[in-house]
Amino acid sequence: LDRQPVDINAGIQSTLTLMAHKCRKNRVTVDAKLDENLPPIQGLPGELNQVWTNLIDNALDAMEINGGYLRIQTQQDDHLIKVSVSDTGPGIPEDVMKHIYEPFYTTKPQGKGTGLGLDITRKIIERHHAQIRVESQPGNTTFRITFTKE
Ligand code: ADP
Ligand code: MG
Repeated sequence: LDRQPVDINAGIQSTLTLMAHKCRKNRVTVDAKLDENLPPIQGLPGELNQVWTNLIDNALDAMEINGGYLRIQTQQDDHLIKVSVSDTGPGIPEDVMKHIYEPFYTTKPQGKGTGLGLDITRKIIERHHAQIRVESQPGNTTFRITFTKE
């Protein structure tokens, strides 16, 4: 595979630019706290942009009715690079949570969701030897992705 140095902040920012219209339409305020000194990771930039797109798209869908806040953060410590994507939507009920990474699983109306976003996301994260975790409660859903520094 043709891995190359990837600037995660740049990928997130260009994804946000592409999705600015949907943010506005859904009355979502974006709050991005991106670590200016984040080191590049070795990876596939197009695939990682797909991850940011899927997570942000789901967050915006979750806030379609009531608007809210999309918070995206990047940070690093000694060994890890961490990305979190958080929304103030209704949260993921327990019975849905069990299935979110399954291909074709969607709770969205016909024609709106393919149910492939998180399946693809999980596979891309695995290919980058990274981890994805989700925490959710009514009023907040946060996806956390952790890369190991090389
Ligand atoms: P799709 O977006 O096409 O439905 P995904 O694989 O991206 O498929 O997501 C699967 C399901 O996980 C969604 O239909 C939704 O029920 C749930 N989900 C994912 N992200 C969120 C979120 N941020 N808030 C609430 N539910 C979510
Ligand atoms: Mg999706």
